[in-house]
Amino acid sequence: MEQIINSINTINENYLIVILIALFYSLERLLGSPFKFDGRLNHFLHNFLFQITFYFANIAFAIVQVSIVSWSTENEIGLFNWFDIPLWLKVILGIMCLDFSSYWFHRLAHASPLLWRLHRVHHSDTKMDTSTFFRGHPLEVLVFGTSSVVGCVVFGLDLTILGVYFFVLLPFLVAQHANFELPDWTDKVFGKVFITPNFHKVHHEQNQFYTDSNFADIFIFWDKLFNTFKYLPVKDMRYGLKEFDNDKKQTFWYLLISPFINIERQMNDKP
Ligand SMILES: [Zn+2]
Ligand SMILES: [Zn+2]
Repeated sequence: MEQIINSINTINENYLIVILIALFYSLERLLGSPFKFDGRLNHFLHNFLFQITFYFANIAFAIVQVSIVSWSTENEIGLFNWFDIPLWLKVILGIMCLDFSSYWFHRLAHASPLLWRLHRVHHSDTKMDTSTFFRGHPLEVLVFGTSSVVGCVVFGLDLTILGVYFFVLLPFLVAQHANFELPDWTDKVFGKVFITPNFHKVHHEQNQFYTDSNFADIFIFWDKLFNTFKYLPVKDMRYGLKEFDNDKKQTFWYLLISPFINIERQMNDKP
């Protein structure tokens, strides 16, 4: 088990992202996109610029993240230090705990007007495809990076478990934005445990009732437990936010400065 975990931690996350993007773009072609739109290359490029800014923001924040988590591990801080449990169980529970932490930070990003200014960049995409995974404001690393640090310190998880968590998380995040509609049985089978791509797309619906739903990244338990799970078929979806539904507001530069602009939330509550 230790060997597997060590091998996972040697994999470069950037290579993994390149492989996942290529794989899910190919799957979109193979399975057929239910949501057709023009200018896909332009859409990809604007979203990809966010990956570049996020990469540098992430490197900067990783220094803080590594120091705090190493400090808490050395001082045996956190829940799992009180129990002697096998490594495999600690890995599974650790991933669940980090997903739990991310669930609450994600809810906070929707509830706090200040954090929503950053998080709405991810929700602004009116055209959904695999590249929507990239669209996240670089400063948002402060929110989701803090979520993993808090998760590690509270639950007593070290950097190796954090590495495995990211390795498991990335395929979920890329798949959830891919422009395909998976058959209903995938939701019935995998949806009992996981947030499926169809479920995450509900979170990108313009109607606020659905935007504020399905907050978890990996496991469905948290949304079910805290009553935030909602469902809508992919074919009925209108993606994005009404206040960003304009080509001029879909460019990398506009979105990058958008947290510093007062943009009124426009409701689109038609069912
Ligand atoms: Zn969200
Ligand atoms: Zn998303």
